Amino acid sequence: MQWYCESLTEYKRLKTREVKIGDLLLGNYHPIRVQTMTTTDTMDTIATVEQSIRCIEAGSELIRITAPSKKEAENLLHIKNELNKRGYHTPLVADIHFTPNAAEIAARIVEKVRVNPGNYVDKKKFEQIEYTDAEYAEEIDRIRERFTPLVKICREYGTAMRIGTNHGSLSDRIMSRYGDTPMGMVESAMEFLRIARDETYHNIVLSMKSSNPQVMVQAYRLLVKTMFDEFGEIYPLHLGVTEAGDGEDGRIKSAVGIGTLMEDGLGDTIRVSLTEDPEFEIPVCKDLVKRYAQGDGKSESRAVVSSGLPVLPTFRLPYDPFSYQRRETFSVDNMGGKHVPVVIADLSKIEKITPQHLQSIGYTYDEPTDKWNISDAAADYVFTGKQLLDFELPGTLKVIVGPDTWNAAADKTKYFPIFSDLHFSKATSKSDKLNFVMIDCFSNSVELFDDRIVNDPTVVICLSSTNTNAMQSVRRMMMEIMDKGIKNPVVLITDSKWQTPDEHLIHFATETGALFLEGMGDGICLGYGEQAKLENIKATGRTYLDVKDIYQFTNNTAFSILQATRTRISKTEYISCPSCGRTLFDLQETTAKIRAVTNHLKGVKIAIMGCIVNGPGEMADADFGYVGSGPGKITLYKGKEIVKRNVNSEIAVEELINLIKENDAWVEE
Ligand code: SF4
Repeated sequence: MQWYCESLTEYKRLKTREVKIGDLLLGNYHPIRVQTMTTTDTMDTIATVEQSIRCIEAGSELIRITAPSKKEAENLLHIKNELNKRGYHTPLVADIHFTPNAAEIAARIVEKVRVNPGNYVDKKKFEQIEYTDAEYAEEIDRIRERFTPLVKICREYGTAMRIGTNHGSLSDRIMSRYGDTPMGMVESAMEFLRIARDETYHNIVLSMKSSNPQVMVQAYRLLVKTMFDEFGEIYPLHLGVTEAGDGEDGRIKSAVGIGTLMEDGLGDTIRVSLTEDPEFEIPVCKDLVKRYAQGDGKSESRAVVSSGLPVLPTFRLPYDPFSYQRRETFSVDNMGGKHVPVVIADLSKIEKITPQHLQSIGYTYDEPTDKWNISDAAADYVFTGKQLLDFELPGTLKVIVGPDTWNAAADKTKYFPIFSDLHFSKATSKSDKLNFVMIDCFSNSVELFDDRIVNDPTVVICLSSTNTNAMQSVRRMMMEIMDKGIKNPVVLITDSKWQTPDEHLIHFATETGALFLEGMGDGICLGYGEQAKLENIKATGRTYLDVKDIYQFTNNTAFSILQATRTRISKTEYISCPSCGRTLFDLQETTAKIRAVTNHLKGVKIAIMGCIVNGPGEMADADFGYVGSGPGKITLYKGKEIVKRNVNSEIAVEELINLIKENDAWVEE
């Protein structure tokens, strides 16, 4: 194993223990299973059965249902029987928070139970407690006493279990000792896993979810390493980003977190948590999984197929994969150094670029005032190929063109050249401020880098790869760049050869997001390979995304990837739970309502959570929280602190706005 995976330079599934969930086998190179969770009231048998069937028909291989108390746990039997009667035998998973007695009932009925180690025994009071080692050991004994009966039932009934840690709901005990960290998440699960192993119970899956993909990726990696170091083996991983939200943002956030781990061969089952009907999560899961579905499951290697030569293996890692640190660079113009990553829009396929086209990438020309309105998600550069623009540009926008076109450009403060690496070394005419140099990682190595490139303080390197396993290929090159102490900023160029907008979205978020999560990248440029015809992207009707403007879609995707990787914040962040049987209001409708009035609050994090039992714990690092606290009642939070209790839901959105205003986080549109 290399740090936390089989290989950092080729795609290889991580070997995990085999787990049996009813008739479904998971782990040990079995196909990556997709799953979702119902949002109906568990006591409403028919509604839950019908929603489960919609999910199963969409392709869900496991169905999770919440069991907040004993009565819901008991009703799982009716749900299961009704599903069986209708010919459906998909394994069911009981979702448990706080209630060991419900878990012990459910474990005798369904094929799998999920427990949250943050609240299975501990009650969360947000208290900071100092434990001595002896006191801490006593607490573990208390957990053992409460948790062992469930383990024994699972072993007796052949029931599987997920030990599902959530970043937002770590116990006060874990928080007091480890803080709000990936290590705290790992230890939270390991305490339960050790108890289960002591009982020779191994039918276990683990998860390390967070609404922050950076934290989530680090926690899963650390978990793999910790299990391997301690047990010499790894239990299967259930991957997910919690409270990802809805629409494109929810999909991108999920794909950045889940996709980054899958690129390294981690993950035996996945769930994409969207604030949408659960059956809509399944196509997103499928788009993620099918990227790795070549081969026989064991090899599933994309690294050595067709055009892809294996990337040189690496035995040293010049960065820490368990914590985030941005690669050190010098700055060139507005790139590198302390600048946020720039977004480059590729408009080179447009025959004649007009001011109208700039609207797609965040610039709106207002004729009466003769001014450009610039949005928070406006591209920093456009690549126009051989085209000089015949209209005045917005002040903040710069243009990248080929060397000959650049020579012909009158305004050298607005236009900058892009060279191939070979041409740059030989070029006699270069910008004295900023030159882009293209390098294909597939056919290149840092050994071949010309000193004239890497020692030039005007050079920004643009990395891309035509290799099949492009992410590993670019990451390998970045490792070499770091190893050699090269400090030029790097723009990551990602092409997609997929066909539908949904597939492109997943591809970009996975490949480019993975690199940004490693601290690599000072700029992003997304494009489409020859096979991906732009007309197809617009025309397709199969998918969730209805793309009317491909340039707007691409620009928004780039900004959303930066937002999801927390490398550049350009909009409001919504942490909304996917809802479940505990939900006390219409989450989709409310999220849309809140989004409509707050989506101009750049950088503000707003959590919208269905219930007060779990919601506050799960909100992680939200600035403000809108949490269901009873039928028609909402409790508002500032951070983790309650500020307005049981507000009537009819005025709750207004009250939320007032709260944001009172805390000086509001700006007028
Ligand atoms: S926060 Fe949302 S998804 Fe989580 S338990 Fe409450 S209602 Fe269900």
